[in-house]
Amino acid sequence: MIGSGMTSLKRLVSDPLHLAAGGFVQSFGASHGGWSWVLTLTMRHDVPDQRVGQAVRFYARGLAVDLGLHFPFAFTTERRDGTRGAHGHALLGGGLQGIGRRELEHRWRASDPAAGFTRINRYTPAIGAGLGASLYLTKEHDRWGVGVVCPRTGDCAHRRCVEGPAPF
Ligand SMILES: [Zn+2]
Ligand SMILES: [Zn+2]
Repeated sequence: MIGSGMTSLKRLVSDPLHLAAGGFVQSFGASHGGWSWVLTLTMRHDVPDQRVGQAVRFYARGLAVDLGLHFPFAFTTERRDGTRGAHGHALLGGGLQGIGRRELEHRWRASDPAAGFTRINRYTPAIGAGLGASLYLTKEHDRWGVGVVCPRTGDCAHRRCVEGPAPF
């Protein structure tokens, strides 16, 4: 779970590449309206990791389209830390600050027939100065992604609507 344990945070910070990745995710959110939600998104039964990653991206895309918003998004998948099978962790921010936790949960369940339970918390700088969540998300070097989720409105043709990493 994101933000759990200062012991692991300390270990993670000793890896300079990882620290750079976490710092990048943290500042990416800060420069795109701020991170506001920390999510753990599970599946009801075990599915391949790649399938979880697709489900998490699909969920974020659905939020953008339904709400007509661009917002910063970071995610990873893993199959550890006590949950059954592969699951996803995500950070959401920007205009999603005003959406409710229950709506975020409901939309996860509605977005995929295999969607399971969620843990959704407000992003808080109190945990490892906010860097904890970003470090957790980036702990597997090849498993995380960050960018702006795009609602694909008319103004978004050719994906030139956002700067930085390719939007989801
Ligand atoms: Zn996990
Ligand atoms: Zn766009």
